[in-house]
Amino acid sequence: MRPTEHARNAALMLLGFGLLALACLYAQAGVYPMAAGTSTGAWICAEAASHLRHIARERRQLAADLERLARPQADPQALADEIALSWAELEQSCCPASWCSRGLEHDADCRPNDLQEKSS
Ligand SMILES: [Zn+2]
Repeated sequence: MRPTEHARNAALMLLGFGLLALACLYAQAGVYPMAAGTSTGAWICAEAASHLRHIARERRQLAADLERLARPQADPQALADEIALSWAELEQSCCPASWCSRGLEHDADCRPNDLQEKSS
């Protein structure tokens, strides 16, 4: 919901509650036609506020759908190649911490020099 819509919705709710309070006062005073008129006004304000929220929800859903459609679709073969490369990098690393930090950190029990000696 946009800020102006929030303000409009709040104004409608305030007006509706004000009309409802006025309807109660008219009903207590016994002026029933005025009570019916102001309570109808309060109901119309509540319906308008509900309609505003509904429109904002539809607009948000439409924007999300358009954004999803505009997003480029992933190529399955390129994705599979990237996964295969990542698995190869993971298998070549000495420990998961080294893989995550690109070789800057190692697990406490990791012996990267032993691995290099074994491979050579
Ligand atoms: Zn390591």
